[in-house]
Amino acid sequence: MRFDVTCSPSSPEFPIYAMPPNFYRRVADALADDALRATLTRSTGLLRQQQAAGFADSAPFEELQAAARALRQDALDRLPALLVQLEAQARARGVEVFWAPDAAAARRYILALAEARRVRQVVRSHAAAVEEIGLDAALADAHINVILTQVGDYILHLAGDTPSHPVHPALHWRKEAVTQLFEQHLDVPQTLDIQSLANVVRFKLRRPTLEAALSVGGVALAVAETGTLALASGDDRLAVASTPIHVAVMGIEQVTAALEDLALFLPLYARSAGGQSMPDHVLLLEGPAPADAADGPRELHLVILDNGRSDLLRWGYGEALTCIHCGACHNVCPVYREIGGQAYSPRGGGPIDSVTLPLLPSLPVQETAGRWPTAARDRRQDAQPAAQTGAEPRPAPALRGAPLAPLPHASTLCGACSAVCPVGIDIPRLLIRLRGDLAAAGELGKRERMLRRLYRWGTQDAANLPRLHRLLRSARLLPDWPQPASQTFHARWRERRGL
Ligand code: SF4
Repeated sequence: MRFDVTCSPSSPEFPIYAMPPNFYRRVADALADDALRATLTRSTGLLRQQQAAGFADSAPFEELQAAARALRQDALDRLPALLVQLEAQARARGVEVFWAPDAAAARRYILALAEARRVRQVVRSHAAAVEEIGLDAALADAHINVILTQVGDYILHLAGDTPSHPVHPALHWRKEAVTQLFEQHLDVPQTLDIQSLANVVRFKLRRPTLEAALSVGGVALAVAETGTLALASGDDRLAVASTPIHVAVMGIEQVTAALEDLALFLPLYARSAGGQSMPDHVLLLEGPAPADAADGPRELHLVILDNGRSDLLRWGYGEALTCIHCGACHNVCPVYREIGGQAYSPRGGGPIDSVTLPLLPSLPVQETAGRWPTAARDRRQDAQPAAQTGAEPRPAPALRGAPLAPLPHASTLCGACSAVCPVGIDIPRLLIRLRGDLAAAGELGKRERMLRRLYRWGTQDAANLPRLHRLLRSARLLPDWPQPASQTFHARWRERRGL
């Protein structure tokens, strides 16, 4: 069977909307899948080695981390002013700027643009902000073909699978399985040479990419002082060069003050994501290409997406927005390495997503429909970009009904994520705070609430622990809970020391 490289409404793609919503079920499935866990262990181990090697010839990691943290925090502190400056500079260079308060507004803008220009084929690069707005499904519904340029995205599309990593969405796929997939769908001979597999995809995508009229991608960072859009994804290059219209989608936090900041962030991202000293390709877009240019988009649009981020800032979770999506925290997380990103949410996930996903509204339709309280929904619909509202800290969010509320508990709080994070986000601290907010919002289910009360009772007095163990095992609430030691640690210590 030959595969049509584009996505159409008649094909059963975008299974992201059909994933079962139950987090615990996804975790159980992942833990029961030995092949998945072996692949995760091998792939994340390789990425960890690459990251460590990537910093071997750089300035000390801690120095870079401190500098990056300071710059990202400064950008967040001045976010409203920087965004206004970015908009003014970008407009002055001929960029159309659209403020999207939520994912639906961003989708509507891009769809209206595509319809106005009679676009039938869109090239979509790998970008978290673009995936967040659910553009693929919206374009497919509008009978517009979508060409996925990233090899990992392409594999997932062929397989009807969902992403598991921010940089390497098909991280959980073994090359043996990929080559079988390609043989089955693309009618090409099997090979285990990774470069040959990548070339197959490039060959398949080249012509439709060149024929497309519109491309959509993300930005690594946008520079406020110059209006420059920095793109650091290799698959952006051909798409941006060849399509007459390009739309860049960025979250409101993806702004930095000065052009020179890129000299810190681009290598830092590349080293953290894959151990390279610089990204393979860097594009600095400074407005549409002139009419006589050999390539480049004649129309350039920038969608600045809020989609709940202003709420995150006001709720005091802004630190999570300093993330540069390098994936390093995923590679070291002992939970992620066992269950993979697909278990976190239908859109993928990892340590930092355990903070943001329960707070942001950009969840797959089936998981969000009817789950958020009216007040919270209204607040998000009223949300203005932070540039227009300021970011005053305010009390914790009302989270009842957040469909991914269990995520903050999917952590051992070991701190490995913070240690490798190039911008030094204190993920464990944010997770602990979010756990508290979830409990205060009554987000814990009946079972968890009862278990917590029992646990408190059982651990307050050493004599209670064996009773609690018997109770929970006989009620089959925690059948695998190991037998508690017959003596307390202090009793054993005294006994051994003869005290
Ligand atoms: S939280 Fe830090 S380590 Fe994790 S993806 Fe974001 S920047 Fe990378």
